[in-house]
Amino acid sequence: MKKELGSRYGKKIRERVKKATSELRKRHACPQCGKKSVKRVGFALWKCKSCKIEFAGGAYSPETTVGSTARKIIEAISEQLKQAKQTEA
Ligand SMILES: [Zn+2]
Repeated sequence: MKKELGSRYGKKIRERVKKATSELRKRHACPQCGKKSVKRVGFALWKCKSCKIEFAGGAYSPETTVGSTARKIIEAISEQLKQAKQTEA
């Protein structure tokens, strides 16, 4: 009996692919209008059907883990700057 196609790939990889595929099909919330009308229109390119905004994001999800981490860092820095300004004044 022939081995099932893809059986040589790990279960985890297949689960990851499945998850990524479902992320692709899922509609995402728009960063501008908040409506769940964001669809993937190209590689790492997303478009909101509601407000027509187009933006780059992750290949499988509009927001990449790296992107959200970067945003958290930026938020932390700007918060520190704000506090620094307050102590100056
Ligand atoms: Zn929108």
